[in-house]
Amino acid sequence: MAFAFLFTLSPATAQTHSPIHYTITLTNPAEHLVEIAIAIPPGPAQRELQLPVWNATYQIRDFVEYVQWLHARGPSGAPLPIRKLNKSRWQIEGLAQGGTIEYEVLADQPGPFGAQFNPEHAFFNFAEILMYPTDARDAPMTVRFAAVPTGWHMASPLPGGQGDLQAPNYDTLVDSPVELSQFQESTFIENGGHYRIVVHAAPDLSDLPRLTDTLRKIVHAETAWMQDRPFQNYLFLFHFPPDRGDGGMEHAYSTAIELSGASLQSDPGQLASMAAHEFFHLWNVKRIRPQTLAPPDYTRENYTRALWFSEGVTSTVEQYALLQSHLIDEKGFLHNLSEEITALQSRPAHVTQSAEESSLDAWLEKYPQYRQPGRSISYYNKGFILGILLDLAMRQGSNDETSLQELFQYLNQTYARKDRYFDDSEGIRKAAEAVSGTDLTTFFNKYVAGTDEIPYDDFLAWVGLRAVTREKTISDPGFRAARNFALVPVVVYVQPDSNAAHAGLHPGDTLLAVDDAPVSRDYETRIANRTIGEVLHVRIRAASGAERDLTWKLGSRKTLDYEVIEIENPTLQQLLHRRNWFTAREAKVTHAQLDGGTSVPARAQLNTSRPRSPQPAHFAGKGWQP
Ligand SMILES: [Zn+2]
Ligand SMILES: [Zn+2]
Repeated sequence: MAFAFLFTLSPATAQTHSPIHYTITLTNPAEHLVEIAIAIPPGPAQRELQLPVWNATYQIRDFVEYVQWLHARGPSGAPLPIRKLNKSRWQIEGLAQGGTIEYEVLADQPGPFGAQFNPEHAFFNFAEILMYPTDARDAPMTVRFAAVPTGWHMASPLPGGQGDLQAPNYDTLVDSPVELSQFQESTFIENGGHYRIVVHAAPDLSDLPRLTDTLRKIVHAETAWMQDRPFQNYLFLFHFPPDRGDGGMEHAYSTAIELSGASLQSDPGQLASMAAHEFFHLWNVKRIRPQTLAPPDYTRENYTRALWFSEGVTSTVEQYALLQSHLIDEKGFLHNLSEEITALQSRPAHVTQSAEESSLDAWLEKYPQYRQPGRSISYYNKGFILGILLDLAMRQGSNDETSLQELFQYLNQTYARKDRYFDDSEGIRKAAEAVSGTDLTTFFNKYVAGTDEIPYDDFLAWVGLRAVTREKTISDPGFRAARNFALVPVVVYVQPDSNAAHAGLHPGDTLLAVDDAPVSRDYETRIANRTIGEVLHVRIRAASGAERDLTWKLGSRKTLDYEVIEIENPTLQQLLHRRNWFTAREAKVTHAQLDGGTSVPARAQLNTSRPRSPQPAHFAGKGWQP
């Protein structure tokens, strides 16, 4: 495609695609100050510069909050006129001969979603610090770092090594996190793919050989499951800070994952599940992408109904990959499924907010009240369950000939490999119907777009399982808190007349520590596992800013727990279906390539109900080397 344009470009248009060079000067680590210079090539005299208001995570974050000042000057050094157009956009005059835009950013947002420069490291998601000329988002870009502290190395999925990083356009640039520090690293090759693991953590928290072994199993399982590897190089970037929140961020050629030392020690399995989830995102959401997110508009919310699929079903595949690489067993798999069902059913909002609505409302997640159980469900949670149920429905509808695995391979061939995007939930429904030959209208109407109660047993019966409920009395701290990104949780609800209320806890208080330990990812589980009547010690920061220590006795409440168990006397058929369900398909069978290997759009296939004629798939994609 790029070559075709060469002959039709006018010189003026061509100039807008001259490379944009960024220089990031690591000015002052103690004060987290970074100076950025953008070299604008000759071109239009008047240009606009935009700093994204969001990137990758579906929340408006207004990165401009941290831009201290901005200057522009021409080739001779003379200042150029600047006019601010809105909070994140500037207009610069007099750039016909090119010029330089300079600004300073305070970068101290920790975690995989952040941008941070301090004496320990520099870690950047570039969308948070690099503005783009609005007429040159497609231009090639380079990034050079200056004043890098001695001894620091650089890790990035972009080519360029220790020199200038190179990206073909802005979208790729901001999908490529960078880490500069004294990190540890290792590499491995799996089925022709080159994997680099970079760990920035205290040495006692970093077990590189074990981590490498785990990651190798995950990439083996997922590339085999997809029969695809659409990259040559992939970077895993880890931070294990002793005392901070946890999260992972997906990218097309890398992932950045942060897990606190406390979580790493209390539940090491979390690391494998986060890696399996983020790695699968390189297909689902990064390449198999809803039309509503392509191309991203960095200036406002990008609404999509498909996050239940892009996020939730990524978690479904994560669990399958962990099972198939023996990082969890079948008991653990069913236990996780049971917990997810319990989590969905225990939120009153599961009958008022659909999976699609939850996807649209992702942009509200930064507001603590939105996260209340009566207000919202999680598209991760319901999407995970829908992924399992869709898989079972496809298996049942096709008598075990097709599954979620073939659906993803179909989506990969039909959309990702052709640089096309799917039509949100409708696109998924049509693809799943085309692959399985099953009418899924009711499934999507009731459980994806609607809020009907899910008849779990109707789906689980195919594999000889059912969901039973048990009433349990568990300890209750008397409050609920919600958190956003790596931030500490904020109390959103205190039960009237509870011990917590009497102890002086208020909505709006920030939780700093529970039982003298910093608040980690699993703090709610840790509290829930405590015995009724035990004393809870909590350190909070009140809305006024004052910090206080509070103690109170844990109360109790009744909950309904779901457990997925085997039915009485399962048939051999059901046991066989379950074995198939738990096993990745080795011999690939696809119904997506009925016309002699030529994929046709799901829409076209739907109109023709052909008999299914399984045939070996051809996965001679550009990246996959058997
Ligand atoms: Zn770091
Ligand atoms: Zn995700």
